[in-house]
Amino acid sequence: MKPFQYYRPKTIKDAITAVASDPDAQFIAGGTNLIELMKRGIVSPGKLVDINHLPLKRIERRQGITSVGALALNSEVASHKLIRQYHPLLTQALHAGASGQLRNMATIGGNLLQKTRCTYFYDTALPCNKRTPGSGCGAIGGINKQHAIFGVDEKLSKNPCIAVNPSDMNVALLALDVQVLVAGPGGQRKIALADFHRLPGEHPDVDTNLERDELILGVEIPDSVFTKHVHYLKVRDRASYAFALVSVAAALDLDQNKIKAVRLVMGGVAHKPWRLYEAEKALVGQVISDAVFEQAASIAMQGAIAYEHNTYKLKLTPQAIIQALKIATSF
Ligand SMILES: Cc1cc2nc3c(=O)[nH]c(=O)nc-3n(C[C@H](O)[C@H](O)[C@H](O)COP(=O)(O)OP(=O)(O)OC[C@H]3O[C@@H](n4cnc5c(N)ncnc54)[C@H](O)[C@@H]3O)c2cc1C
Ligand code: SF4
Repeated sequence: MKPFQYYRPKTIKDAITAVASDPDAQFIAGGTNLIELMKRGIVSPGKLVDINHLPLKRIERRQGITSVGALALNSEVASHKLIRQYHPLLTQALHAGASGQLRNMATIGGNLLQKTRCTYFYDTALPCNKRTPGSGCGAIGGINKQHAIFGVDEKLSKNPCIAVNPSDMNVALLALDVQVLVAGPGGQRKIALADFHRLPGEHPDVDTNLERDELILGVEIPDSVFTKHVHYLKVRDRASYAFALVSVAAALDLDQNKIKAVRLVMGGVAHKPWRLYEAEKALVGQVISDAVFEQAASIAMQGAIAYEHNTYKLKLTPQAIIQALKIATSF
């Protein structure tokens, strides 16, 4: 690992200035992703700006919005009474992530920014457009079991990338219409979660629309009608400590058996959390039934593209959507 300087800022302003004034500096929170990237030589910051002592851990609710600080731990957020009461979908998604030990280290800000788990990205001996734009994509002709089936423009891009966003939390946050509060040298701004993560396009090396010197302060979760009929379904190779092959966040508002409102978002299928807008439209106003769920799942699959080792996702994905909808509407 390349030697680096360590800096512990006293204030949020100090932290932003430290990164803004040094192109080689990077924020560190729980370190559960960044340290691995440094050990493998994928990133080599000259200075780590440790934000762990900044006052960004609060979880509070005011005027119909739950604010969660960027340094709140995944485990604390998942079990917090406000989150369990008002945003149970987020509790479920966070509990599905990683392991107990990791959730005790991982922060909300770090989870938003965690890198893909594509194995070619983590092996510096292999080509990867995300790590080194222009070097090629090892996964397209290689082992692509975990990779994307939606939002892939491989034929159109000079730097194709078929990696997926690995976060469980991000899937639930998109379903809950979350805003990300960030601060940079020019002041504060909010970014809707839907605009936070990017599709790869020509720049798979850029995962989000956050600027390098912007610090995530936290997320704001508005109250919603999705407090009862919610389910986060994660399909993975092991029952714990494994990333999603596919996952589905299903949240519904029901009037008796009729669907008044719905959110359907998927993980493990695209470069960013993937909202199923057309399937949602097909569900609103319908009376719940297997046939209605099957039709929505079939609509959701339009435009899906598979590679040699992830063709199973073409069958697994609609089944996961149907199952998540059935469980969410079963109580
Ligand atoms: C073995 C293993 C299994 C895992 N399984 C899962 C899983 O199943 N599901 C899942 O969702 N996740 C999983 N994770 C990922 C884990 O959730 C992330 O590593 C974690 O959330 C990152 O948070 P952190 O605080 O440790 O971030 P760090 O590693 O400290 O930072 C990650 C990135 O975010 C930046 N950063 C951090 N905080 C801020 C901030 N406030 N503002 C701006 N930039 C910031 C850092 O500069 C860095 O680029 C797994 C991780 C491991 C190691
Ligand atoms: S899928 Fe993306 S991250 Fe994986 S090798 Fe290809 S370019 Fe790299």
